[in-house]
Amino acid sequence: MTVTPTSRDPRIVIVGAGMAGIAAAHVFRQAGFTNFTILEKGSDVGGVWHWNRYPGLRCDVPSYGYQYAFAPKPDWKHVWATGDEIQQYHHDLIAHLQLESHLKLGCEVTSAVFAENRWRLSTTGGDEIDADFVVAATGILHHPFIPDIPGLDAFDGPVVHTARWTDIDMTGKRVAVIGTGSTGVQVFSALQPEAAYITHFARTPQWVMWMPMGLKQPRIVGRLLRALPTQEKAVRLSQLVGSDYLVDLVIRPTWRRRMAQRYGWICLRTMVRDKDLRARLTPDYQPFCKRQVLSGNYYRRISKPNASFVSEPIAEATNTGLRTADDVHHDVDAIVLATGFQAHNYMRPMTLRGRDGLSIDDAWAKGPRAWGMTAIPGFPNLFTVLGPNSPTGSMSLQHVAELTARYITTWLQRFRDSEITTVEVTEEATSRFADDVAEAMVPTVWNTGCNSWYFDDDNHIDLWPFDRKRLTRMLTEPHDDDYIFTA
Ligand code: NAP
Repeated sequence: MTVTPTSRDPRIVIVGAGMAGIAAAHVFRQAGFTNFTILEKGSDVGGVWHWNRYPGLRCDVPSYGYQYAFAPKPDWKHVWATGDEIQQYHHDLIAHLQLESHLKLGCEVTSAVFAENRWRLSTTGGDEIDADFVVAATGILHHPFIPDIPGLDAFDGPVVHTARWTDIDMTGKRVAVIGTGSTGVQVFSALQPEAAYITHFARTPQWVMWMPMGLKQPRIVGRLLRALPTQEKAVRLSQLVGSDYLVDLVIRPTWRRRMAQRYGWICLRTMVRDKDLRARLTPDYQPFCKRQVLSGNYYRRISKPNASFVSEPIAEATNTGLRTADDVHHDVDAIVLATGFQAHNYMRPMTLRGRDGLSIDDAWAKGPRAWGMTAIPGFPNLFTVLGPNSPTGSMSLQHVAELTARYITTWLQRFRDSEITTVEVTEEATSRFADDVAEAMVPTVWNTGCNSWYFDDDNHIDLWPFDRKRLTRMLTEPHDDDYIFTA
């Protein structure tokens, strides 16, 4: 694409070099936009796959579906890839797509302010960068949630959050793992064989469905996939079929949902023989209400003699362990916090000010909201990729990130063609969308009576309650009536 004297080449800043940021960079360049910089606060690309390095880390989405269709990798080593393998995929991709020259690592954006029809971004390194468009690909599960346990600071041993793992040798140690989400189950299962004793502290038990997570992908499968004449199409198809299946389960209360939920009950019933343990492991809400946990060995490992499952609430930490509400003291050498994330922080703590000085904290005082997951009223020429209401619980996020980036590209093109200078979604369109979301959320499984990280502080479920057709329609059709432009 050549930039003619009558066209303008938009200056674009992508914030975040995780999965969404990489997708955006690739899509923009494919469409002929090369004037972009990716600012990443971490020392490496990959987002969650850079920050999370805890033992047992593995993707719970099959590798073949957890990749970009534009960069198919047929030869995954495992059917469910390990964290290291996914990170290697990201590294290979950065090199293959030649994105290094656009990338600034260790560069945290501290503020982004919109004035005089352009964004000015400031970074921790003291850089000031002007941009016509800002694309926030800052992730969802990024800020670790540290529970407020009285006395935790006084504990003598190491306390580590799974998303900030440091190398601690747990061999022969008495270990406490707090949290029963996907992370807690993975890290517990990985540490149990080497620990002298391991205690899993659960505020709420989770349904854990058995899957052969350690299964290797036979080489022949890789060779056959590589031989496919249309690898990209095959990945897209697998992502779409997988997404449609999951969407159907979570958004509609059908017999298909009930069948899948039954599997959770069968796993618990057949794999945990001890009745008392099984009772404590049994959740009082439906499978899939929280993000479904998959594991190949959790129920076996929690049943081992060196393991225990404690459902009494933690009252306090002492210098030698944790005391539960029943006044039992649990002596431990190390505490692992698998307590999740502040999932609705999005771009924060960055200072973000849009039109007329509007701050994102004020705009989102009642929780994060964005039209179609991407456009925020009051913030012209700023788009999120995997922003509020993204389908983290139901669809291929690589697919959604790519589609959103293509949608943003349509605005970049109109800027380039001097058709618009700024574009901002209306408050009315965003409210309409939020109302539709609230209505569609009612019959979803996420709304069947559990507490999960899907809920924001205002008790809205921050997910996508529609099917793929609606998503495609929103992000591929023009919606000029929903936007305000300046030319
Ligand atoms: P999470 O699902 O939010 O789980 C946090 C856990 O910490 C919950 O069990 C929670 O209990 C517990 N907790 C929080 N504060 C506590 C306190 N004060 N005392 C006791 N327990 C406390 O977080 P996560 O496990 O890190 O998973 C987050 C998401 O990351 C997953 O849902 C998934 O989407 C993603 N993930 C994906 C993979 C993958 O393989 N792709 C792997 C790991 C994670 P309550 O349930 O009572 O709130």
